[in-house]
Formats: sequence, C-alpha cells, structure tokens
Amino acid sequence: MTRLLGLLYCNSILLIVIIQGGFSVRLRGAAVFKETLYSLSDNVHVVKGAAFQKALSAPALGKLVQFLNIFCGHCRRYVPTFKKLAIDLHKWDRVLRIYAVDCAQEENVKVCRDFDVKGTPSLRYFPSNFLKLRYGLGTVFPSMEPKKIVQMLITHLAKNDYTGTKERKPIFAPLQNHENSQNIFDPFDKELPYILLVHQPKHSQIGIETLLDLLPYPDVAVRILTDAQLFTQFGLKPFAQNISLIDRNGKIHDIMPSGESSSAYVDSVTQFLEKNGYTSIPKFPTAKPQVKKAMGLEAIILKKVLSSPPILYQADLEQALDQLLHIELPKAPLINGPKFKALRRLIKLFSRFNPLNIDGRRLLVGLENYLRTVKEITGVQLSDTIKDLEKGLEKIFKGRRYVGCIGSKPFTRGITCSFWTLFHHLTVMSSRNPREFKPGYVLLCLHGFAQYFFGCSDCAQHFQMMAKRRQIESVRTHDEEILWLWAAHNEVNKRLAGDPTEDPKFPKVQFPLREHCPKCRKSNGWNTAEVLKYLKRLYNIKKVSFYGLPTYNRY
Ligand SMILES: Cc1cc2nc3c(=O)[nH]c(=O)nc-3n(C[C@H](O)[C@H](O)[C@H](O)COP(=O)(O)OP(=O)(O)OC[C@H]3O[C@@H](n4cnc5c(N)ncnc54)[C@H](O)[C@@H]3O)c2cc1C
Repeated sequence: MTRLLGLLYCNSILLIVIIQGGFSVRLRGAAVFKETLYSLSDNVHVVKGAAFQKALSAPALGKLVQFLNIFCGHCRRYVPTFKKLAIDLHKWDRVLRIYAVDCAQEENVKVCRDFDVKGTPSLRYFPSNFLKLRYGLGTVFPSMEPKKIVQMLITHLAKNDYTGTKERKPIFAPLQNHENSQNIFDPFDKELPYILLVHQPKHSQIGIETLLDLLPYPDVAVRILTDAQLFTQFGLKPFAQNISLIDRNGKIHDIMPSGESSSAYVDSVTQFLEKNGYTSIPKFPTAKPQVKKAMGLEAIILKKVLSSPPILYQADLEQALDQLLHIELPKAPLINGPKFKALRRLIKLFSRFNPLNIDGRRLLVGLENYLRTVKEITGVQLSDTIKDLEKGLEKIFKGRRYVGCIGSKPFTRGITCSFWTLFHHLTVMSSRNPREFKPGYVLLCLHGFAQYFFGCSDCAQHFQMMAKRRQIESVRTHDEEILWLWAAHNEVNKRLAGDPTEDPKFPKVQFPLREHCPKCRKSNGWNTAEVLKYLKRLYNIKKVSFYGLPTYNRY
C-alpha cells in the first residue's frame, strides 16, 4: 500500500511537471538530449536542411562532409577519430570546411535522401561553388581512416578553384618556365615576404602537402616545382636542394630540413620564420568536452526507469513508429522492387498491431491502402502521403520522448532501443493473434527493414549476417519467433557489452536478469519455457505503461 501511494505521489508530481513543461518540442535523436555529436569546438560545422546546400555552394572552399546517424554505434565510436582529424585539419581552414549532417534528424531527411546517403558514417568531398545539378552527389571517400582521408583531401584541394577567396589565393599549379625571382611574387599581395620553392618529384604530393600545412603562416607562400631544372631560374643548381626560401629581393635564405618530408620542410620554414619574428595565426583552441546530465523531467523519468524492472512503455513504442514513419522510411530516394515489398509488409504489420490512438491506426490503415494502389514510391511521395493522411487527423505522437529507452548521458540508447522494443512487442502481438500473420512474418519485416531502410549501417549489416547464421527463415511457430528475436538480441548484447557506446547506467546484459525472472535461469543455461512466458508478459500491450506521456489513460 505504501509503495502504491509512493508511486501515485511520484506520478502526480510527474504529471504536473509534464503539464507545466508542455510537449511542443520535438525531441528526437539521442534520447532526451538535444546535443549533436560534433560542434564548432571540434572544427566541425553541424548543418541542417537548406543551410547545408547553401554551405556547399560557398566559393573558394573545399568541403568535407560526414553523414552520420546519431544513434548508430559505428558513428559514435568514430567520433574521437574524426574530432582529432578535424582539429588537426584546422590548419587548412583557409581552403577547407568540415561539416556533419545527422541523417536521424527530421530536418535532414530531404538532404540525406537528395544526396542518396546509403551508409553512415560516410564521408564525401564537395568542391567550391558546388551545385548538385552540375556536380551530382559529391565524391564519396572510400575509407574512413584518417591517413587515407588526408590523402584524398590533398588530391582534391589541389584541384579546387579558389577564385573569390577573401584570403591569399593558394597556387597549386606548378611553377612555369617564364617564372623567376623577378616575377614570382607578382600573383601575390605586397605583404608577402617569402616564397618557399618545393621540388615535387613525379607521383609525390610533397609540394601540395607543404603548401597546405604552411597555410596558417601568412608570411610564406609555396610554389611547387615539378622540374628541378627550374631552380636555375633563381640562381640555384638544379639538384643541390629540394626546397628553397626566397624573399622579395630574390635573396635565398638557408633552411635545412631534417629530412625529405612535408613535416620536415614545414618545421624548417616555421623555425626560420619564428626566429625572424613572424608567427602563425593562433592555433585552434581545444575545449574540454562537457558531459551534460539529465535534468528536470528527464531526471525524474530516469530515476523511475532505473528503479523499476523492465516495463513496456507506450512512449518508446510511439517514438519507434514516429521515427520510422517520418525519418527512416522516407529517407530512401526510390522505393521499388523488393524494397517496396519490404515497405508494404512493414506497414501492413504496423497497421494490424500498433499501440497508437484511433488516429494513429487510421493513418496506418490509410497508408497501407495507399501502398496497395502503387507499385513503387519515392521517398518524397511517401513523406507527402504520410503528411496528407495526418492532416485530417488529431495529433498522434503525443510524448516525443523516450521513457524505458531514456539514456543517462547524451548519445546513448533512444532510437535503436525503441526499435528493439517495438519488434519484441510485435512478435508477442503476433503470437497473441496467430491468425493475422504466419510465424516468422515479424522477423521477415525486421529483416527487410534492416536490409533496406535502417540508417544504422553496421547494425543492419550485423543483423543480416546474424539472421543468416541463425537461420531466421527456419522459425516454425510464433513462440519460436519470440524466442529467436530474444536470443538474437542477447547475441548483440553480448557483442556490445563494455563497448564505448554503452550507457553506463544500462549495461548490456544477458536478458532477462535473474533478479527480474529467477525462473528463466537454470544452473546450466536458460529455461526457455519460462523466458517465453516472461517475454509474453513483458511485451504484452495490456501491460503497457503510459508513464511519461501527457495522459495516464489509454488514448
Ligand atoms: C536490429 C538491431 C541491430 C543492432 N545492431 C547493432 C550493432 O551491430 N552494433 C551496435 O553498436 N549497435 C547495434 N544496435 C543497437 C544496440 O543493440 C542497442 O539498441 C543500443 O546500443 C542501445 O542499447 P540499450 O542499452 O538501449 O538496450 P537495447 O539493446 O537497445 O535493448 C532495449 C531494451 O530491450 C530489452 N532487452 C534487452 N535484451 C533483450 C532481449 N534479449 N530480449 C528481449 N528484450 C531485451 C531491455 O529492456 C532493453 O532496455 C542494433 C539495434 C537493432 C534494433
């Protein structure tokens, strides 16, 4: 009784907070946190929607863009590597901007569809004045490894057009026969005191690299000599040196690089400059990352979830469907062939079993009916159809927050947790209504989703491999289907236990824990009959909790 009163008291506080706080803000992405994986303090510009196209069209700049999904483990694991690279590349700021586009945000669905983003994280390069109609979809970088990215960037930045730059225009074109100590400074402004001549042998990029790495030093420009004979135009012997520093009076200054690498060249030049009172522009300031904690309503929800056994929350099911309908599914440019079949199956499943209110059910039935009338659909059409259907309906997705899937820190849990929850729930719903779908139908839908739509590329790949290995098609009964997904999910939990993407307050465990289902465990493993009972209880719609939503009543 005391416990019940406590819960009621706690719930009434929560209800007051919810009413006062309102739910007008769309909270998608990383659980309750509105943060992004990158920021300007990492030298990464986070762009959204139309601002992205505008950024790409900027003159005199190459652009490196990372397309990501905030909820994909691979994207989150890649963050430290990319941050380090981006901060290091700040030295090329005069010629390069680095952007991040989160395809899990509703504002970016169009961008990610228009640019046909198939996998995340993925990198593309865009030149100055980029226009989609003229240049297509940008250049895909095949490797995410920093060294290879740098190599690709060097090649592209050397070819880029810097017309219209507000800063000194870098000259990547090799020195010509007519250029000599009298006229070599002509293309540059009068402030420039030194030019470094760098011999770049065939198949080498040493000159380009040196030029790029010296960009932070406004007192030196680089010219590249692809033919060592051209040193003679400056009164030097052709093969006596690989670099030479010349001033406005044609005087050659002694610099002794410690080796034949761009970093050795840069070191020798910067030492000379610093000795002579010239400095670089200030180094990129690195800020310590701030870890934000859940506050207010989030803190209340988090506390409640952490102190309860696993519960099925309506809020998580809604979030999964909301994200699927508005972001994951319409992101594809064209949905045809087997992909279209997968979409139809998925919508049919959702339209039969969904926890939504009457308008939500109308939306899904309307969508299912519409998909029967067409053979293929573009992502834009799908998005527009959903919007049109929603126009005549009451608000469907009420909470727009995670409850059971709440994270205790940014970028953890959230969307993928809600997807698991939804599909476990659907396997149980299918077994409760065995006439609706054949055994295995829910798994087929999940497989189709992973194969064609899941924005988390590594999740999708792993899932498909696991489905093959665990013979997903061998499921013969609805109960087997529930247990197949349970075992598969536990395999993923095992692989991810201790992973950097794990939420420390929600460690990956073999589910369910003994304390939540003592009978599920035997001395030598699982008691699958008890596990089945437990899952049927947990994921039963009759047990769904409306905690965290603006109403405690069923819709
Ligand atoms: C199909 C799929 C494949 C994925 N593959 C990858 C991957 O390859 N790499 C990667 O980094 N991330 C992957 N993810 C994401 C990852 O599994 C988690 O969703 C994410 O790390 C968030 O974890 P979580 O702590 O919220 O718990 P989740 O693993 O998301 O689980 C959500 C909830 O389900 C319940 N649950 C846990 N285990 C079981 C079970 N065995 N049976 C029934 N219920 C259970 C618990 O209540 C838990 O809180 C995948 C997600 C999906 C949907």
